[in-house]
Amino acid sequence: MAKKKEKKNANSQVQHREIYHRMNFLYQASMMMAATAGSASSSDLGNLGRFYASHMREIGKRVVLRIDPKVKRTICRHCEIPLIPAITSNTTIQNSPETTVLVRCRKCQHRRKYLANPEHKLFGEIPENVLEDTSISP
Ligand SMILES: [Zn+2]
Repeated sequence: MAKKKEKKNANSQVQHREIYHRMNFLYQASMMMAATAGSASSSDLGNLGRFYASHMREIGKRVVLRIDPKVKRTICRHCEIPLIPAITSNTTIQNSPETTVLVRCRKCQHRRKYLANPEHKLFGEIPENVLEDTSISP
């Protein structure tokens, strides 16, 4: 019985739960529309995917929620089209001077470069940088 209460409390402590659900839905819908539209990113489905992705980013900005960097990297910063390798983006690996992954949007030709070092950790992945409990209990 106590386990059920703890589980229920853990679920109710997630702030902005509905907003996370909506953002997740919009992200999945944008990826599906972009994949369905294929390389013809100027079609109606491609534009719908762009709209869903931009709407997801606007919701995150309005409520001040951080989007995970892995999700953020799959959306073009310039034209906001979902970046799917070989469909809406080209991905190449460069070895000089460091090994990097270069992602180029096929629609606007915007480029992003990411380090390909497997030991590199993002700021949010380092345990010292993450607060354990930010909720205020009554
Ligand atoms: Zn783009």
